[in-house]
Amino acid sequence: MATDNKSARRLMGSFKELGVTAAQVRKLMPEWWDDEAAEDEGGMLELQMLLARRLNVSLESLQQAPPKPVFRDAVRRFKTVHPEGSTQLAVAASIANGLAQLIDSAVRGAPPPLAITPAQLRSELLELAPAVTLEALCQWSWSHGVPVVHIQGWPTSLRRPDAMCVRIGERPVILVVRNEKTPAKLAYLICHELGHVLLGHLRNIGNAVLVDDTLPVDNQRSFHDEDEMAADSFAMTVMGGDSLRAAANSLLGKKNYTDLSLAVAAMDAARAHHLDAGQVILGWARLADDWQMANMALRFLMTTGPAPEVINALARRAIDEDALSTDGKDHLMTLTGMDFAGQ
Ligand SMILES: [Zn+2]
Repeated sequence: MATDNKSARRLMGSFKELGVTAAQVRKLMPEWWDDEAAEDEGGMLELQMLLARRLNVSLESLQQAPPKPVFRDAVRRFKTVHPEGSTQLAVAASIANGLAQLIDSAVRGAPPPLAITPAQLRSELLELAPAVTLEALCQWSWSHGVPVVHIQGWPTSLRRPDAMCVRIGERPVILVVRNEKTPAKLAYLICHELGHVLLGHLRNIGNAVLVDDTLPVDNQRSFHDEDEMAADSFAMTVMGGDSLRAAANSLLGKKNYTDLSLAVAAMDAARAHHLDAGQVILGWARLADDWQMANMALRFLMTTGPAPEVINALARRAIDEDALSTDGKDHLMTLTGMDFAGQ
């Protein structure tokens, strides 16, 4: 019997072929895990099961000698293909799929009807808030059976996509991964993912996972893919469409903004048309190509807590803790930072 805990390390190291390092695998393990446990048969089985769930690989593939992890049968669609990052995106898709299954098991409510136009969605959102805000989007999603969760505990140095949406049976699940505090940016991401969901992009494929590697909430390149353009145009319409474009344009006339004067101008332009001032600033930044100033101005609009906390506070209230196993809670807590009683 080995005494240097090699068995656990060997198993964690076997994920290398999938593009995940042993250190990244370890980041997904519960805190209480001790490598020494894997030196006996029962402990090894426990480790295999924990890893199978967390990385969504087949248990059998971990039980081979030597172990050769294989992702579970989930169809993956990578909407923004980065050839150099595709292995890591496959890992992201697999983690997302495992997490979405877990969340699906702990929520109630029927999934949304697909036949809703962006204009209808906008008017429903404006019944919840004066503008299309992050909170309104999350509230609407949860109340229509679409969970929205922010993954704060993404494994270090594993490629971090912006957002993903996953379909588990009939239920779409939106996972926001981008490490970002600004509500307006994450609101835009969620709106884009809702676009994929409500336009039916997740249909017709079993266990679909859609990975959005990078979305244009920063100085990033624009889309070429048809579904991406459709989801983006959906998001733009929900956020305010032509009024939003006009408001962003109206800000272009003035020069020499300070962060404060830009924030004030955006709030002025936003008020009349039920726009979110943060989206006006983002629109201005795209036109003026001044992301640094936009990011500073956005800080003045932070009237809520950091965006991931806003998302997960709503998620925490909607998730039925009693439907989760101890390990399920542990996994959810590791990835989202959500707190569960008794943990
Ligand atoms: Zn997309």
